[in-house]
Amino acid sequence: MSSVNILGVRVDDCTFASAVEMVEAWLAQGGAYQIASVNPEFIMRAQNDETFARVLANTNLNVPDGVGALWAAKLLGKPLTQRVGGADLTIELCRAASAHGWRIFFLGARDGIAERAAALLAARFPGMQVAGAYAGSPRPEEEDDLVARVAQARPQLLFVAYGAPGQDVWLARNLPRLASSHSACPAIVGMGVGGTFDFVAGTQKRAPLWVQNAGFEWLYRLIREPGRIRRQMALPRFAARVMLESLRK
Ligand code: UDP
Repeated sequence: MSSVNILGVRVDDCTFASAVEMVEAWLAQGGAYQIASVNPEFIMRAQNDETFARVLANTNLNVPDGVGALWAAKLLGKPLTQRVGGADLTIELCRAASAHGWRIFFLGARDGIAERAAALLAARFPGMQVAGAYAGSPRPEEEDDLVARVAQARPQLLFVAYGAPGQDVWLARNLPRLASSHSACPAIVGMGVGGTFDFVAGTQKRAPLWVQNAGFEWLYRLIREPGRIRRQMALPRFAARVMLESLRK
């Protein structure tokens, strides 16, 4: 699969279909695999956060989340086929889980949200198995308990909603531990899913499709959650850096 390097972060040129196919192949093969949904905020964070940059360099798949990543790839001369948003990929993986009978663990978000999202998805995709749903927290003192809880549930898919970069760093640290404790089922794919459980449970509203298609989901979220302003200050800096980089090429 080809990829583009955007300010030092690898973004893979996948589609929903090819991402799901990769997951099918990994689960057939066994081992621990990680997916990150990379948007401009991730890329800017990785500029100054060495741990996060290393995690993103070692994931098995970095899907292009957000129009910003698509715009940057095009400007850098390596256009990507489509936007593969983390929230939408979560749904597609649940659809695949219903066909294959995969077990999914939903970890993170506020109390009760993971359970609600899991129940709604299981009702929508019969055949998908809920291995577990639990809020927990990304605090280091909880880590061993969480890993034991997930290992006992033996999921093939692990969705983690602790926000970036915490969720992705958590997965990078713990997926290999989970795969090795998985004697009955030694294959696991983990993905950091941000606010996806909130969208699915209905506690956060996603932008209407026409807003998403026009490339303004970020603005919609900013208006609904003004607290995101600090994170989104990264966007103009991202645009400027990408333009500079494209001039240098
Ligand atoms: N979250 C959590 N524990 C934390 C930090 C975040 O459970 O310590 C959850 C939060 O409730 C939300 C998700 O992580 O469900 C992160 O959402 P955010 O909007 O930050 O993610 P994005 O979609 O922007 O990546």
